[in-house]
Amino acid sequence: MSSPDDCIFCKIIRGEIPAGKVYEDDDVLAFLDIKPVAPVHVLVIPKKHIASLTQVDKTDALLLGKMLALAPALAVAQGADDGFRIIINAGRVGMQEVPHLHIHIIGGSHPLGPMLAR
Ligand code: 5GP
Ligand code: ZN
Repeated sequence: MSSPDDCIFCKIIRGEIPAGKVYEDDDVLAFLDIKPVAPVHVLVIPKKHIASLTQVDKTDALLLGKMLALAPALAVAQGADDGFRIIINAGRVGMQEVPHLHIHIIGGSHPLGPMLAR
């Protein structure tokens, strides 16, 4: 079900599908979400195929820390210079749609509203 061969984000990493890339290094790729929910909506993914945050363990701590540590600079570079929100949807209950771990960086000039509808 979740193999790198047919993974949409692995295809973006391999250049088989276009994406608005905003950052890339040996471990990590960041690109614009195709259906942004706010003026700033960036996805940060590991180049290694990890299906979900539900699958990580402490051996992934360095990579996860690196992804998170990139968020402030990526947010500011996209114009979110007064705060942002990080979302990681994980698994069925988290309603993750794409089975390749990703961090959403969401922001803009206006407050985003409550974290979840109550
Ligand atoms: P999830 O619900 O899995 O946390 O979020 C998946 C996100 O990936 C969604 O916000 C969706 O708009 C985005 N997405 C899905 N397919 C593509 C694509 O082909 N290109 C880009 N740039 N974003 C995508
Ligand atoms: Zn993948």
